[in-house]
Amino acid sequence: MTEKLTTGFEIQPAASEARADLEAFAESLRHNAYDADRHLRRLVEYYATDDRYDELDASLREFGEVIMGRLDDLVRENNAPGNLPRTDRWSDYGARTEEVDHHPTYHEAGKYIYGSGMMAAYADHPNSMGALTRFYLSSINGEAGHNCPLACTAGVIRVLQELADDELKERFLPGFLNPEYGEHNEGAQFLTEIQGGSDVGKNGVRAVRGDDGTWQLFGEKWFCSNIDADVFLMTARIDELDEEGTAGLGLFLVPRQLESGEVNGFYLRRLKDKLGTRSMASGECDFEGAVAYHMGEVGDGFKHMMEFVINTSRLYNAVGCCGMMRRSYVTARVYADHRRAFGHPIADYPLVQETLANMRADSETLLSGTMHLAAMQDRLDAGEATDEEKAFFRMALNLNKARTAKTARWACVEGIEILGGNGAIETFSVLPRLLRDSIVFENWEGTHNTLYMQVLRDMKRYAVHQGFFSYLDGLLDEISESPEGERAAELADLLTALEADTTEVLERPTASASLTMRRLVDDLVYAFYAVVRTWERACFGADEDEAAEASLDHFMDRHLRPDQPDVGDLTYLERIGLLSEVS
Ligand SMILES: Cc1cc2nc3c(=O)[nH]c(=O)nc-3n(C[C@H](O)[C@H](O)[C@H](O)COP(=O)(O)OP(=O)(O)OC[C@H]3O[C@@H](n4cnc5c(N)ncnc54)[C@H](O)[C@@H]3O)c2cc1C
Repeated sequence: MTEKLTTGFEIQPAASEARADLEAFAESLRHNAYDADRHLRRLVEYYATDDRYDELDASLREFGEVIMGRLDDLVRENNAPGNLPRTDRWSDYGARTEEVDHHPTYHEAGKYIYGSGMMAAYADHPNSMGALTRFYLSSINGEAGHNCPLACTAGVIRVLQELADDELKERFLPGFLNPEYGEHNEGAQFLTEIQGGSDVGKNGVRAVRGDDGTWQLFGEKWFCSNIDADVFLMTARIDELDEEGTAGLGLFLVPRQLESGEVNGFYLRRLKDKLGTRSMASGECDFEGAVAYHMGEVGDGFKHMMEFVINTSRLYNAVGCCGMMRRSYVTARVYADHRRAFGHPIADYPLVQETLANMRADSETLLSGTMHLAAMQDRLDAGEATDEEKAFFRMALNLNKARTAKTARWACVEGIEILGGNGAIETFSVLPRLLRDSIVFENWEGTHNTLYMQVLRDMKRYAVHQGFFSYLDGLLDEISESPEGERAAELADLLTALEADTTEVLERPTASASLTMRRLVDDLVYAFYAVVRTWERACFGADEDEAAEASLDHFMDRHLRPDQPDVGDLTYLERIGLLSEVS
């Protein structure tokens, strides 16, 4: 039957067909995000320990069912203008509460996300794999209002588990590990002050020791995400140390409320109007005598903050970016199947296929590298990691944080381009929101330059590059006799050249060395991803799906091989055709 406008005009059949195609696109996106992601499922098989695999696989499948369904609806709604968080500083009867009011869909989304068991996974310490695989699925909806808080909460849990005394553990940990939204606790991390985020050593919030073993904090914090959390982890300058820079900083646990229920010396100034991550409340606040507990030895605050807080967040940041890459790829791929131009689905056109192939190869291979680090985090926490692995992890974590964030932004832009004009429309797909979120992810937990400079410093001071290269060489040695041997030999030659390049950079004065870091970091990180994915294939049994091998080849051609394939060649056309199919 011909569709009719209310005015009685007939709708053109072409318009009806196009609308039906777009509706089919939206419907096809509502699939199980775990079942549809073959590469993720393989990684879970590779890295989950035998005793945890069945439970994790089942739990991810259950969570995967809502990601692109009900949870997607909820996150879209609480990100809509008018539904964003608002300050709610006073109770109805005039008591100071310093609360934030969220749209009801925010809380409903939280029930699914915390209910997935993501934070509860840490009860079985160490279990970053259990938490981060769930976090990846959750990040398919972008920051989603809850994902930054989850990264912060994971940092608080790790600090409590590693550094707190039994009394504080008993008081706070059960709430953090509780998957029941509403009965659970959330954490936040306040480091940044107006005078500097990268330059944490400029922190001026003061910590004064009290008589009873607690401390009091005074001063202002400038960027405070999840400002409605139950507990804040904060850096503050310890008066009695009388030290400048990071050496004078302590790491403090600050409950939002005192045990009496009163607000703990905390004053919320205002919420920030942000480019991205908009349904999560970030604000500015003051502390006036807030009761705080120092975590770990006084004098080791900065070291602990880096090890347990920032490193955790950097890994979460990277996993979150992988989730956004995946969403962009899947959205673009499904759209390309349904959208017709010049008589064909646009998925038939080689230029579209190539974009999809690029997105897929990058998103899968970066996920391999990131999950390798997640598994290594568990080895580190179990005290099983060698010194070589520790050096490798320290360097790879920072390289990976910078690259995943850049690639996520790129992937969102590529996805938007495939959607054409519809790509620019907020209500049409989630990609505009994910693009805005991905830009924030680039800044959070270390800007690119900060990471480049940290890698340079770590190489100069601690020679972490030696551990980096020897660890990767070790992976290649393990598989030299395997069916992946030829690729392993190619990568071993590449590592040798990169090591010489790195040595040359390190001989330069810092100013000149810093300028080479952008390029060097990319060369190093792409080599890391290719080595890990090659090793995975050899060790765990290569994925029989032809596209998995094509994905790694495509990745290496794009980022590591000096000789580019002939793009007009039939083999290349077949490869991008294969890769542009949904995995
Ligand atoms: C939405 C949002 C939420 C946030 N939430 C939190 C939070 O919850 N807790 C928290 O503590 N912080 C938070 N931040 C702050 C964030 O961590 C900082 O913005 C970030 O660390 C950068 O610090 P900055 O803004 O002071 O930039 P700056 O440090 O002033 O840097 C400005 C520019 O200079 C560059 N630069 C700085 N030093 C060097 C150098 N040595 N060499 C070369 N280039 C350099 C940087 O790369 C950057 O490009 C949040 C930020 C945003 C946007």
